[in-house]
Amino acid sequence: MNLADLYRDVIVDHNRHPRNRGRLECPTHHAEGDNPLCGDRLRLDVALDGDVIRDLRFEGSGCAISTASASLMGEAVKGRTRAEAAALFGDVHRMLTGGAGDPARLGKLAALAGVAEFPARVKCASLAWHTLNAALAGDARPVTTE
Ligand code: ZN
Repeated sequence: MNLADLYRDVIVDHNRHPRNRGRLECPTHHAEGDNPLCGDRLRLDVALDGDVIRDLRFEGSGCAISTASASLMGEAVKGRTRAEAAALFGDVHRMLTGGAGDPARLGKLAALAGVAEFPARVKCASLAWHTLNAALAGDARPVTTE
């Protein structure tokens, strides 16, 4: 199995069986995201414990890339501080726009590296991260990628 197959399998798996799907009973932060270009919609609940992302859940409807990205993001940022999550978003953003990112930090998120070849899908892959940013910033206005 080559790397491209492995990455595709990770995305298919996270799209079919998204982790952290649903809602939190007592979220401390919340945001909604919208990618009208593709029709992806996302609703994100976050529970912060001090500065640490203790838990999060998402729901919504979207393409395989947006769902897999939200699922992978949830796994990646749970238990991390806001600053760590922001640094990770920086790496993901660099990766999605054709840069390298930090492979050691990216882990499974590297499965989305191939998206960089499809500029129209970059917004699908980054929607969850923009929504997380908005939630942590306490910005109640819906986020749009447009
Ligand atoms: Zn999409």
